[in-house]
Amino acid sequence: MRRLLAALAATCTVVAGAAAVVPEPAGATAPAAATSTAPAAAPGTVTRTVIGHSVRGRPIRAFYRGDPGATHVLVVLGQMHGDEKAGPATARWLKKHLTPKPGTGIWVVPTMNPDGDARRTRTNARGVDLNRNWPTSGWSDARRGTRYWGGPRPASEPETRAMIAFLRKVTPDYIASIHQPLRGIGRSGRDVPWEKRLARNLHLPRRHFGVGNPSGTISPTLTGWYDSTLGRHGVATTIEYGARTSLRFRTKVAGRGIARAARVR
Ligand SMILES: [Zn+2]
Repeated sequence: MRRLLAALAATCTVVAGAAAVVPEPAGATAPAAATSTAPAAAPGTVTRTVIGHSVRGRPIRAFYRGDPGATHVLVVLGQMHGDEKAGPATARWLKKHLTPKPGTGIWVVPTMNPDGDARRTRTNARGVDLNRNWPTSGWSDARRGTRYWGGPRPASEPETRAMIAFLRKVTPDYIASIHQPLRGIGRSGRDVPWEKRLARNLHLPRRHFGVGNPSGTISPTLTGWYDSTLGRHGVATTIEYGARTSLRFRTKVAGRGIARAARVR
């Protein structure tokens, strides 16, 4: 813990008395922080932290920009499936260019699947579809051996557990979880104005994206899990880009569009 704190402090200006988010080991299930979850960095500074590690030991990184005392926070997850390459470009653009307005902040997680990213595979290194591995009533291990396998147990994968611990700590107001190639903004109806702002800014239709869980159960996805367990804090939304994106779209257009839709810019 001390070593991690020192590493965090080395990357930012620490403001005395402010609460800091510190990384926790993969698999830990910490309760939500009682105080501000923004890290103790000056506005405009990028704070970098490691929220966990992949099956192969690669770090899962998160970057914070914004107000140290932010009460309104957006999380952008650039990539969950390693063969979907456009979202990390949006994440990198936001990390580099976005200065959130006062009182707000943004956490950017370029990828939660660094092994899949390196291997260009949808699944993680154990062949698990991380967007079928979240611990909800709709979880199933039925599709073992396919690209859509939910894993041997709910939250069996270190990548899923790292994100769960991170989201429990940060409890964002908005989560944008970027995928490809289905072209649309996930329609959950939990915050229709936010969905409409995303649709307008990113020029994508609002659509329902199912993952094949039995009716009456909660989909074993990041969005299903967040909305059903931490939905009192905010809303998680899937954004599906098309198969091909222009450089301008996956950087400026999507980056600004998501930030504006979330009211952090
Ligand atoms: Zn995907």
